[in-house]
Parts: sequence; structure tokens; C-alpha cells
Amino acid sequence: MSTTQSAKAAQIDIFSQLQAYNHEKLVFCQDKHTGLKAIIAIHNTVLGPGLGGTRVWNYANDTEALNDVLRLSRGMTYKAAISGLNLGGAKAVIIGDAKTIKTEALMRKFGRFVENLNGKYITAEDVNTTTRDMEYVNMETDHVVGLPESMGGGGDPSPVTAYGVYMGMKAAVKHAFGNESLNGKKVAIQGIGKVGGHLLEHLHKEGAKLFITDINEEMLAKYSKEFGATVVKGDEIYSIDADVFAPCALGAILNTENIGKLKAKVIAGAANNQLADENVHGPMLIEKGIAYAPDFLINAGGLINVYQEHIGYNRETAFRNTEHIFNVTSDIFKMADAKNIHTQKAAMELAEKRINDMLHVGSTY
Ligand code: NAD
Repeated sequence: MSTTQSAKAAQIDIFSQLQAYNHEKLVFCQDKHTGLKAIIAIHNTVLGPGLGGTRVWNYANDTEALNDVLRLSRGMTYKAAISGLNLGGAKAVIIGDAKTIKTEALMRKFGRFVENLNGKYITAEDVNTTTRDMEYVNMETDHVVGLPESMGGGGDPSPVTAYGVYMGMKAAVKHAFGNESLNGKKVAIQGIGKVGGHLLEHLHKEGAKLFITDINEEMLAKYSKEFGATVVKGDEIYSIDADVFAPCALGAILNTENIGKLKAKVIAGAANNQLADENVHGPMLIEKGIAYAPDFLINAGGLINVYQEHIGYNRETAFRNTEHIFNVTSDIFKMADAKNIHTQKAAMELAEKRINDMLHVGSTY
């Protein structure tokens, strides 16, 4: 291969990637002094400023980081749109090992880059960033949410997320079984961390029979005692005789093998990107007669909570708006049935419709 050919092969066609899903803006942030290498992707701001967390990850190369930030920012557009929020979709990634790269100076420098976008991008915590990191970012910009309550923020979003998942689950149960009650229903939960733990409380209160799995033995012991939940080993969670399966740990677990094992008639959980391949596994769930509550719709409570922070925080309003997930999830099941499409597709179409409708609203001065 000649030098010109190999240079061509190594080239990343950034504009084609932006055009593929119509991203608006991509910002590369570099600072030699702190070692900051970050990418901010703004996917769509029709509904409002792009909001999405900042993830720190040791990507194998820049292409991997770029793909991740483009994919995640687009996901935020859909989540905000379907949740009825006046927010667009965006995301940021900082490249490097979170254990060594994060310093006050680096996070504050990143805050400066966020500030330079004049509110077009609002950041928040994400994988490998903490409330403390966001406090540093906040020293340089006001365009950050997810701050502690002591700083006027909304605090931990997990209880709100769990409440939304609970609402989405009830809507899915109503669709599958004719009524929304979880009393006596067998619910299998994979992952009993921050969201899964709060979800357990709601389900226990309603009288559900609980089955739990996690890699954290301590938490399993705690919750089995507190809520009378039965502990299940690892992958057995897929095949137990449950009515509802709630993935609250990992993404991409709804693959051909695991769906094949499921006995549950409902899937409703907090994990992001549960369908390994939505074009394959969305239709597969229809074939198996499983009611799937789309993840990005029912886990939006955390986003609804930080949106409240953006407009003036009120915890009660955050919970009230999250309750609406029940109605939207019910509408999605009806829409999916009427159009004979899977629920993830229906949810995406509804989100796109809202963006297009609002684009039209804005067309008159
Ligand atoms: P968390 O880290 O507190 O909990 C995840 C739990 O899953 C942990 O207890 C962990 O031990 C367990 N786990 C990890 N690997 C596992 C495995 N192989 N099998 C079983 N359990 C395993 O996270 P969280 O905040 O509760 O979030 C749970 C999921 O929901 C994540 O996918 C997250 O992205 C998503 N989510 C969270 C929020 C939020 O507000 N926290 C909002 C939207 C989406």
C-alpha cells in the first residue's frame, strides 16, 4: 500500500458520521497542561439545549470515543423528547483512565469548554464522573446539573429513576395481564444497585414476589432479609418462572440466547440499551408475546429530575412528571399494536414526531 493509500484508509470521515444521524455540532477539546482530551457532541437542539452527562473512559482509540459520544448524544435526544422535556440531546466524553486522569484542573478546564458553548450544552454526571467532579465543572460554568442538594441541585436521581421504572412496569403489566396491579406478581430483578434497590421498595410495598440477582453478595443478603426476596444465581434470573423481568444492571442483555430463556411476559427495567440489536430483538420479543417497556422511556426519571434542576428545582414536580411515564408507556403499547411494530420503534417514532411538531411550532415568528 502506498503512503497516500494508507493515509486514506486511516482517515475518519467525520462529516459523514455527523450526517448519518444529523448531529448538529461536535467540539474537540484539548489542553496540553492538564492532559484534557474531550469530545462534546450536540445531536439536536430543536426542543432546547442539549443535555447529557460527561463520561470518562479509557477508549482504545479516538474513533471509539467518537462513536460512543455520537451514539450516546443521539440517545439523549430521544429520551428528552419522549419525556416531554424542552431539552435536546448531547453528551461528552473525556478520554483517559478515570483513576489517574481526573484532577481539579482538568475538570475545571473542561468546565471552561462547556462555558464556551454558552448554554447550548448542559453537562451532568455520568460513568466515572462524580458529584465532586461536577462541583469543579460548576466553578467554571453554570451549565451543569446533578449537583448536590446543598448546592441547590436535585441530589441523587436514582429514586426518581426507580419511580419511573415502576410506573413503566405497571403500564406494561396492565398491557400484558389486563390490570396494573403487581400484587402477587413474580418480579425478577437483575441488579439491585441504586435504582434496583429503590425499585424493590415499591414492589415490596405493593405485594410483589421478588427474585433478585447481583454480583454484590452483601446487597443480596441485605435485600433478601429486608424484602423477603429470593436470591437467584447469575444467569438463572432469565429462566425462572417470573411474570416480569427487570434488567437494572447491564445493557445489551436482551440477546437471542437470553430472550430464548425468558418465561416472563413483561420486561421493564432501568438499564440503558437493553436490546442487543433492536432490529433483531425488538421483533423477537413480539414473536414471543413479551411486552417490552422501552428502556429510554421508562428510565427517564433521572433526566426529568435534572431538567427540574435546570428550570428551578422542585422534587415534588419531578416525581409528578415522572408519574406520567405510566401514560406514555400505555400509549406506546397501543401505538405498537396498531402499527404492528415493536415498542422500541414506536417510542422512537413518537419522540421523532414531537421534535418535528415542535420544529413546526417554531416556524412562526
Ligand atoms: P448501580 O451501579 O448502583 O447498580 C448496578 C448494580 O448491578 C450493582 O449493584 C452491580 O453490582 C450490579 N451488577 C453489575 N454487574 C452485574 C451482573 N453481571 N449481574 C448482576 N448484577 C450486576 O447503577 P444504578 O444507578 O442502579 O443503574 C442501574 C442501571 O440503570 C444502569 O444500567 C444505568 O445506566 C441505568 N440508569 C440509571 C439511572 C440512575 O438514575 N441511576 C438513570 C437511567 C439509567
